[in-house]
Amino acid sequence: MLLHKISDVREQIKAWKKTGLTVGLVPTMGALHDGHKSLIKKSVEKCEKTVVSVFVNPIQFCPGEDLDKYPRTLEADEKLCNDLGADIVFAPSPAEMYGEGHILSNDFLTYVIPPFFYTNKLCGKSRVGHFDGVCTVVNKLFNIVQPDFAFFGKKDMQQLIILKKMVLDLNIPVQIVECPIVREPSGLALSSRNKYLSEEGKKNALAISRLLFNIKSCYNNGINDIKALSETVYSFLDNNHALEYLEFRDRNSLEEKTVADNDTIVFIADRVENVRLIDNIELS
Ligand code: AMP
Repeated sequence: MLLHKISDVREQIKAWKKTGLTVGLVPTMGALHDGHKSLIKKSVEKCEKTVVSVFVNPIQFCPGEDLDKYPRTLEADEKLCNDLGADIVFAPSPAEMYGEGHILSNDFLTYVIPPFFYTNKLCGKSRVGHFDGVCTVVNKLFNIVQPDFAFFGKKDMQQLIILKKMVLDLNIPVQIVECPIVREPSGLALSSRNKYLSEEGKKNALAISRLLFNIKSCYNNGINDIKALSETVYSFLDNNHALEYLEFRDRNSLEEKTVADNDTIVFIADRVENVRLIDNIELS
């Protein structure tokens, strides 16, 4: 069932809750691929009802980013959700979520601002305000759908860590389910933004996951010196890459590691053909 109005979603959820059904929510920006599919499948397995939201959230894009050209494929997305057994595809307009004049108007003024310590690093450093937009929209979706479970991918690991903190800090009655990164057989992490890459660009992008796998195998072979592990970057990324960051951080606090250990996640953001790609690997 494709719904665009918050009131229609609320009505349906109310009916389900009355009969005690468990509800799963999978928040997405659409252009659904196998990564999203794995989240939806998990929700359908675990919950009696599944809501997939498809919303390109304007307030999580920074000025100059790809808000206008972000792929929008609602018809195909709806079909995929139906095929997987999802019950509602919730696709609101920006006006439905934020009022006619949203951003910088009086229609919408209340944001959820996650802790600076979590947002002043990694993606938050170059995408200032991005996680405010993410936390705000996810909070709104939680209030609209009131899910028992919400499914998020480890592909966006910083986002996942920040959302878990938000749920804990604000006592939101939802259980976050963490889902593994889905990759192409080549290793490339699936992303809606991969659509921007040419065939050549896709080939070049493979170096990102190869670099991460190499770091993990070096770690497994006993190397825990971060300088030594980081230096491998030069043998993987040639001048087709513009590296934004490669960082070793703690899986809970996001603090920088001095020595790699089993709580370390290696985060990378890199541009290929000016497409910003992110990936990460857990060393445990
Ligand atoms: P997006 O549509 O990019 O906002 O992503 C919606 C959800 O799908 C987020 O929880 C992402 O982490 C998750 N996701 C995106 N790509 C992947 C992937 N390759 N593997 C697992 N989860 C993913």
